[in-house]
Amino acid sequence: MKLTFLGSGGSSRMMATQVRKTGGMLFDLGTKFVVDPGPGSLYHAIHLGFQPEKMNGVLVSHLHPDHCTDANAYLDAIEKPFLIAEQHCVKDKKVTKSKVDYFPCISVFHQRKSKVHAVKAGDKVKINDVEINVTKADHYDPTVGFRIRAENIDVGYTSDGSYFRGMEKYFDGCTVLIANVIIPKGQNPQPHKYMSIDNLIKLVNAMKDKPDLIIISHLNLWMLRSNMWKQEKIVQDAVKVKTIHAEDFMTVDLKTLQVTKYKK
Ligand SMILES: [Zn+2]
Repeated sequence: MKLTFLGSGGSSRMMATQVRKTGGMLFDLGTKFVVDPGPGSLYHAIHLGFQPEKMNGVLVSHLHPDHCTDANAYLDAIEKPFLIAEQHCVKDKKVTKSKVDYFPCISVFHQRKSKVHAVKAGDKVKINDVEINVTKADHYDPTVGFRIRAENIDVGYTSDGSYFRGMEKYFDGCTVLIANVIIPKGQNPQPHKYMSIDNLIKLVNAMKDKPDLIIISHLNLWMLRSNMWKQEKIVQDAVKVKTIHAEDFMTVDLKTLQVTKYKK
């Protein structure tokens, strides 16, 4: 029952520089799957000793390249994969009537090969013993987050997007909250774009049942320049929940919440 960060970075600049890797996350809950595999994901998974062909599937929160470019490669490697993807990742533009021009970020070949669940906020998908609830996100292109549950494990992942009123109901009671935050303390987020540190504080303080661990991820250069240790301390002091920032290849034991950093 383990989570491995195949990268802790996000955004276009981070993809281009790879100062922080953009590989998303790999969950091993008996059922193994990768979430938001951006560029480098498959390479890093193999480098860390994972065998992609032994994995079960892929989750994609939205069609931005830092979240999905390696999805086809995983679906290619896995014999009978499942795919849970925000619906615009897989549906033709004529169907969704969307103005976004990334269609489809999952190739038609790989859609046919996979058991596809094209999802929107509010949907629920069960894969073996893992239940995936699809949460709402307020990003500038169609996006969802995920709440992943198995046995006594309950992980919330906001994906990209700003805080919106009522967001807390999707994540209330989760044990681990993974939040994609790219705007440091005191800076104002643009509407419908990304989450700020102030947003994250608002989200967690609005929860009735707060998580046991908050992980700030999808780091960009702005956040890194703003001292991540300071940013996480600001959150921790404001919400009274242990808060850390993700590092490339770190692992989290989802039962004990023990975090292990990667050593070369
Ligand atoms: Zn995005």
